[in-house]
Amino acid sequence: MTTMRSLETDFLQYVREMMHYQEVLHLLFWDVRTGAPKKGLELRSEVIGTMSAKKFAMSISMEMNRYIHELSQTDRYEKLSPITKKVLAHAKKEYDLLIRLPAEEYTAYEVAKANASRAWEEAKQKSDYAIFLPHLEKLVAYSKRFISYWGYQGNPYNALLDQYEPGMTVDHLDEVFSKLKAKIIPLLHRIQEVEDKPATSFLYKEFPLAKQKELHHFFLQELGYDLGKGRLDETIHPFAIPLNRNDVRITTKYNENHFSAGLFATIHECGHAFYELNIADDLLGTPLCEGASAGMHESQSLLWEKMIGRSKEFWQHYYPILTSYNEDQFKGIERDQFYRAINSVSASFIRIEADELTYPLHVIMRYEIEKALFNNELEVRELSDVWNQMMQEYLGITPPDDKSGVLQDMHWSAGMFGYFPSYALGYLYAAQLRNTMRNEVKDIDNLTEKAEFTSIKQWLAENIHVYGKMKDPNQLLLDVTGEPLNPDYLISYLENKYSEIYGLKATSS
Ligand code: ZN
Repeated sequence: MTTMRSLETDFLQYVREMMHYQEVLHLLFWDVRTGAPKKGLELRSEVIGTMSAKKFAMSISMEMNRYIHELSQTDRYEKLSPITKKVLAHAKKEYDLLIRLPAEEYTAYEVAKANASRAWEEAKQKSDYAIFLPHLEKLVAYSKRFISYWGYQGNPYNALLDQYEPGMTVDHLDEVFSKLKAKIIPLLHRIQEVEDKPATSFLYKEFPLAKQKELHHFFLQELGYDLGKGRLDETIHPFAIPLNRNDVRITTKYNENHFSAGLFATIHECGHAFYELNIADDLLGTPLCEGASAGMHESQSLLWEKMIGRSKEFWQHYYPILTSYNEDQFKGIERDQFYRAINSVSASFIRIEADELTYPLHVIMRYEIEKALFNNELEVRELSDVWNQMMQEYLGITPPDDKSGVLQDMHWSAGMFGYFPSYALGYLYAAQLRNTMRNEVKDIDNLTEKAEFTSIKQWLAENIHVYGKMKDPNQLLLDVTGEPLNPDYLISYLENKYSEIYGLKATSS
């Protein structure tokens, strides 16, 4: 006979083992993307396959079924610790999502994704949407069927959203995004009419790589990223990856002729790392030991990268230091010119190269496309044209080809429908959290100007990071800021910042 206590302990031990597989997978992922010898990759992918299959099998095993079933019995459930209850809910959600998919169909879907990934790469290289089209049609059809197996409330797209942003719905996003759009588009138009645009060409002058590396390490130290608990490596697309609570690694990309892109990427990833490094000890070894959602995670990186790292106060302190790393580049460039340059706005085709103001428009556009696809209001074959029309409507530019249009992101080729909104939510959360932080942390501008980040970091750790996945993003935001998601904070942040940079007069809105 298993007693109550041991069933709970056994369950937590079982979950802990799953997390160990995850740590191994993350380590392999990091290795593949930072320096694994090319010739070893083929054999390596076999190991990755074995490890993921093992973890996958554990999440839908008979044993997992038994834990979920027995621990959910009312008398037992009530005696569980709050953490175990949440871990159980998490395990059950994952179990339900996977178990409802017929095994053959799921396997076929995995194969379709691998094929779609390859087709997307080829299509992007040749800038030809037609190559990717049949694969994307397949993936969308699979996801539609999966939604019908899972069931949904309200809108079928809610089933996809919930996987990345628990609790988020189409109704809520429609409301928030339409307010945001209605303010950003006119602001962008006003900026586009300004003649005195920030000069940015000096940003692209040569900055020796060795010096850039020194600079990045200097900033990591300043921000307080502990190299005893992480590393900085090079990769093609920068990322942060948690291995365990005391090992969260970040990566960056150096570009000799565009130093600021890499520098801000490092600060961005540092923000992600701070989140993972500050999760409460008692969540260790559980799936709750990670950020509340994709969007909440992004809020932390954006706060550091954009709202602190691109602020006037930040460069008030650091500009003289920056210039000492590569004096020629900044000769004759005043601090304020530098500040305007790193915050300059221009409509561009590529999402990941977009500035702070136009970025949300790129995301909202993708959200609207996905929503229409999953509500049968749009066919996959129409995507390339619709994309170009929307770019014209939102940003006033039309991509010259599919490569800089509909084919630019990898998400759809990986079946990641419902993920894009998290990027814009990250901004919205960040601005709302920033507003509360500014009310609660004294002299915040002054502290930033003095490069004293301790109280900012402490506030973020205590109010957000420690909770890991114990709270859904909506609840977390409500608890910290006292109100549900409110786009006004991002709107006024953007209006204030960019009106000043572009010398716009206040409008009567
Ligand atoms: Zn990020």
